[in-house]
Amino acid sequence: MVAQHQNWTALREAETARMLAACTRCGECFRACPMIAHAPAAQGAHGATIMGGVLDLLRGGAGDAASRAWTSACTRSGVCVPACPEAVNPMLMLRLAKFRAQESGALPPRDGRDAMARVKTFARLTMTEEEWERWQ
Ligand code: SF4
Repeated sequence: MVAQHQNWTALREAETARMLAACTRCGECFRACPMIAHAPAAQGAHGATIMGGVLDLLRGGAGDAASRAWTSACTRSGVCVPACPEAVNPMLMLRLAKFRAQESGALPPRDGRDAMARVKTFARLTMTEEEWERWQ
């Protein structure tokens, strides 16, 4: 169990370092994200600015309101993954940024009360018009 924890910690640190080095803050992942409707504080943010905030969260910093809102809204749709020209895997990057932010106190601990609205947005990506109408 201790060895597994050490493996996870080492893997997480290595991935974090890789992402910090690889991300150019182009903002393509942010522009591709379907969850912005659930992150009012992130709406209209400049791609490079919000990515600077996400990278700060990833380093253990406080980020800014927009980056914290976007990181919180992520439901791991994966739409951002092919949008990234640097093979960073922004979906995993936001996940690791969220873990770090919850540890540092930049984001509050997990709270599922607003989860259903985000789940519906995620589900919409996978359904036809007919399926969506029946599910509503
Ligand atoms: S994660 Fe990829 S798409 Fe997002 S800002 Fe960084 S380089 Fe660009």
